[in-house]
Amino acid sequence: MLYVGCHLSASAGNVAMIETAKSIGANTFAFFTRNPRGSQAKPLNENDCAQAVKLLQEENFGKLVAHAPYTMNLCTAEPGARAFAASVLADDLYRMSFLPGNFYNFHPGSHVGQGVETGISQICDALKQALAPGYPVTVLLETMAGKGSEVGGKFQELKDIIDGVGSDQVGVCLDTCHIYDGGYDIVNDLDGVLQEFDRIIGMDKLKALHLNDSKNPYASHKDRHECLGDGSLGLETFRAVVNHPWLKDKPMILETPNELSGYAKEIAILRQMENI
Ligand code: FE
Ligand code: FE
Ligand code: ZN
Repeated sequence: MLYVGCHLSASAGNVAMIETAKSIGANTFAFFTRNPRGSQAKPLNENDCAQAVKLLQEENFGKLVAHAPYTMNLCTAEPGARAFAASVLADDLYRMSFLPGNFYNFHPGSHVGQGVETGISQICDALKQALAPGYPVTVLLETMAGKGSEVGGKFQELKDIIDGVGSDQVGVCLDTCHIYDGGYDIVNDLDGVLQEFDRIIGMDKLKALHLNDSKNPYASHKDRHECLGDGSLGLETFRAVVNHPWLKDKPMILETPNELSGYAKEIAILRQMENI
């Protein structure tokens, strides 16, 4: 079963997102837990969450992949700002506990000159604290393009975070644009890249994908998304992804530069490519 969807606006609530998803042929989706470029969250609507949980099951949706705000940097240098990021994480996990069993994806962080090792240990500290209450949520570390001081551009860095936290509530979300920009050649050697992922991190940790083409060439460390087929990855790469036995059952989220109608087209393209 192919579970594909896209980023949706969370402003009208969870039930509204499910209706929107259905209208564009999606059976999973992503949403920002709060203002993606700030930190404001709207009040939690428990009734809407409860209705959504029921609907998601009735409609046979795949797991949702919520996205943390871009501003949440768990390894920023200033201790006060770092504590604030950790409090955003903790609050988001509480909110996600009202949609149990779904995923919470975030960018591991940028170490801003502190060094990768320090960054990783700060990320681990925040995760260990936030995951302690045992919420029914799996957090996903997103694979990054390795732009600037981003942590998570290499599989080994993600593995070090997973081991440092030591919880089975930590997995990985693989972003096709990011890893290609980051130097993993999924255009010419998808199998080889996935084998490397399996060897270093373990395929059991791969929980979801972000499907994006890239505006930039291989190993550019840039991170600019493009519509499927219009960038350096090309449609054949996505055909291979949706049909890959290790990937095809994971939720796949489009983050391409589209409005809803464009997402509907890309979802249809992915569904047509399944099994062909
Ligand atoms: Fe992301
Ligand atoms: Fe992404
Ligand atoms: Zn990106």
